[in-house]
Amino acid sequence: MTHSFETRAIHDGQEFDPTTGAVVPPIYQTSTFVQDGIGGFRGGYEYARSANPTRDSLQTVLASLEGGSAAFSFASGLAAEDSLLRAVLSPGSRVVMGNDVYGGTHRLVNRVWKPWGITLDTVDMTDLDQVREAVQASQTTLLWVETPSNPMMKISDIGALAEIGHAAGALVVVDNTFASPYIQQPLALGADVVVHSTTKYLGGHSDTVGGALVVNDDDLAEKIGFVQFGVGAVSAPMEAWLTIRGIKTLGVRVDRHSENAQAVAEAVVGHPAVEKVYYPGLPEHPGHELASRQMKRFGGMLSIAVSGGAPAAKRFAESTEVFQLAESLGGVESLIGYPSEMTHASVRGTALEVPENLVRLSVGIESVDDLVADVTRALGTLG
Ligand SMILES: *Cc1c(COP(=O)(O)O)cnc(C)c1O
Repeated sequence: MTHSFETRAIHDGQEFDPTTGAVVPPIYQTSTFVQDGIGGFRGGYEYARSANPTRDSLQTVLASLEGGSAAFSFASGLAAEDSLLRAVLSPGSRVVMGNDVYGGTHRLVNRVWKPWGITLDTVDMTDLDQVREAVQASQTTLLWVETPSNPMMKISDIGALAEIGHAAGALVVVDNTFASPYIQQPLALGADVVVHSTTKYLGGHSDTVGGALVVNDDDLAEKIGFVQFGVGAVSAPMEAWLTIRGIKTLGVRVDRHSENAQAVAEAVVGHPAVEKVYYPGLPEHPGHELASRQMKRFGGMLSIAVSGGAPAAKRFAESTEVFQLAESLGGVESLIGYPSEMTHASVRGTALEVPENLVRLSVGIESVDDLVADVTRALGTLG
């Protein structure tokens, strides 16, 4: 019998310990495994870079939640991305990505991979004609989609992009970090690979850094598995365990994140200090209808463009109290950031530059009244 998402999030890959009955499987904090005679591995375990039971547990639940046949867990989201690039690119390959992807993703391809003979082009992923033209212009190996995007909260049509990418012979990758598998499942919509920074919603408690790749294809799984083993940017047992613990509450957390973000967005729309609110849950958001079809909820991330330019935006980001000024997102606690000088500092001066009057909120699961009061009070100081 297949169980529903919430049940799988708690049980898949989490069978109780057969030796003691411990409900929570122990953390296998070990680098190596005793062999019963040379090559006599217990459960296939030999050395923890190739496999560790705690990492396997995480990979099992991740594959289940994304509807994939295999998942691979890494030391960070960028390590996961880099491993994917190593698995599928070769000198001369071309990558086409959205022009507002996570700054570190752009930097990875633009600064680390380009010197190895990779070409990179960026497009507006919400403009399907532009994407079609770009992927047909010359042989494209990877079409890299991030939706909702960071920090502009643009929504791109995963199903349509998968068709466009496949028609051009490209692999279609979706960074599902902002949505999480609870609200969006790219493999079911036609994507070939799902990328996660598990640092964010999956871990959910801002206490660990990690990343993952999920696929539904044996050939891709073999290539990625080889890079995971052969390069070794794996997640450590403790980090994998913390991520597993976070995943158990993913559904209830993301429901609350989404409700709180919707309330904050609605509370600040029309505020005199606010120029524009970017949240897909608002009916006036250009991606609202698509998001309603493609996502189960609208998620916990929103951006606010304030009037008064960079100085006002910085003052706003520095004057909230419950929302703490910090990089990152997706944890239970609310965070506020100034993308132009924080998360997106690496893309300043490029086509991916973000507006200077933009502030990004990761809405946490604290009391919604406290959150709304905090944001409106901070905006009140701008006048
Ligand atoms: C944070 C993030 C990454 C990078 O992940 P790390 O765990 O920081 O390496 C990639 N994509 C998105 C959308 C992110 O938010």
